[in-house]
Amino acid sequence: MDNWYYIPPEHIEGDRAYISDPNERRHLVRVLRNKPGDVIVFVDGDGWKYEGIIARSDPEVVEITVETRCRDEAEGGVEITLAPAILKGSRMDTVIEKATELGISFVIPMRTKHTVAGQGSVSAHRLDRWQRIAQSAMKQSHRARLPRVLPVLDFDILIEKLPEYDVAFLAWEDESQANLVSTAARYSDAKRLLLLIGPEGGFDRQEIERGRQAGIHTVSLGPRRLRSDTASIVALALLVSR
Ligand code: SAM
Repeated sequence: MDNWYYIPPEHIEGDRAYISDPNERRHLVRVLRNKPGDVIVFVDGDGWKYEGIIARSDPEVVEITVETRCRDEAEGGVEITLAPAILKGSRMDTVIEKATELGISFVIPMRTKHTVAGQGSVSAHRLDRWQRIAQSAMKQSHRARLPRVLPVLDFDILIEKLPEYDVAFLAWEDESQANLVSTAARYSDAKRLLLLIGPEGGFDRQEIERGRQAGIHTVSLGPRRLRSDTASIVALALLVSR
């Protein structure tokens, strides 16, 4: 079954589940023409995967009888938080979609000194849009855990939160001593990882120094100067392959 659905835990009660999101309902009823008796797969975003049979399906309500439930073990207990500097236009959408496919747990849109995208201001509408992109990418990539898009943080506030992580990496194109792969290999037991990616104008030198003093590892992603969105995807691909 290629099409997975998302049903948040509060809409799953015992052996009954209800699709409340009108877009999900429309997709199931109108686009895929699922009908009572059909078997569907859905996830709750908290790591559980279900199989169920549609008991009732119309545009107002889709009710499902839960048949099986299992924990998705693919996540492996490692939580990666991606903190990308806020990018202009659809580039941030791409980062969130690909980062979800690559297995991140949290996104913290980050404001840095050289963030130019609206000086780093983000409307509630844009945050909501990013969360929906994560939801759709979760289903498409057959994950059972929904990455959470957290509120925007300034670089300086984010580094105050470092104690919440086992290790933190900052991708810096001028780093000549350490690369991400060999540095991450020294932290193979780390469960909570934080990854910071700078804006198109790069991190400010003072941010690099403050980050290092706070204990963040500055790391290279190789000899090329990557666009910020590419850097997020490459860094995550390297991290998840460890
Ligand atoms: N400071 C640069 C400039 O304006 O010339 C380039 C910034 S780069 C386009 C955007 C971000 O991607 C950087 O802040 C960094 O986090 C990441 N990045 C790009 N290439 C990288 C590399 N080779 N190694 C590590 N990080 C890289």
